[in-house]
Amino acid sequence: MKPRVVSDPADYRAEVRADASRRMVDLRAAVPGLVVDLRYATANNFLRAVVYEEGRPLLRAAAAARLREVEEELKGSGLGLILYDAYRPYFVTRRMWAEQATRYAAYMSPPWLGSDHNRGVAVDVGLVDLKTGRPLPMPTDFDAFEARAGQDWPAAKLPPEAAADRARLLDAMTRHGFHPFAGEWWHFALNGAKEYSLLDLPFSAFEKAPGKE
Ligand SMILES: [Zn+2]
Repeated sequence: MKPRVVSDPADYRAEVRADASRRMVDLRAAVPGLVVDLRYATANNFLRAVVYEEGRPLLRAAAAARLREVEEELKGSGLGLILYDAYRPYFVTRRMWAEQATRYAAYMSPPWLGSDHNRGVAVDVGLVDLKTGRPLPMPTDFDAFEARAGQDWPAAKLPPEAAADRARLLDAMTRHGFHPFAGEWWHFALNGAKEYSLLDLPFSAFEKAPGKE
């Protein structure tokens, strides 16, 4: 089945009127302790270019609420979440595919399927130590397109700390309604993600949270 693409803001508003949990919310307000390092709003990503017109981390309210639960739970162990990506407009996915598919097709969502990031229900996250604010060791850097980044890369072939942190993140996310993507330790989508439409809307189409630019 062809996924539904919403490119008219009025259609997005109709979705939200019918179901308020589909509203896009700013994660800096919805998940207060979140460390935000939105890579595609900077040139620090595999494209070496700024691809988001704003650095606003957006997610559907239903997914944001679950992410807040993860954060609350991790806090008990002195840990927090660092966010590398959240909502990605569908037109950005189309552009990435046009520019990079020859090199990275295995790691990218083709436009005819779309990405759960386009649906506003997927996040790319790591763990941080709340005392230092520093990311914890993981198997690879974010967006390292290599086999070692996969959830199924054997723990025995990783430094013990990286293997333990990967497992802890997976455990916390999956117990709060997210499922992983096999190829990337950092990517998680809300269960039932495909029920959400792909949003082909710029960040400016979504209302700003009070006090957040
Ligand atoms: Zn992702």
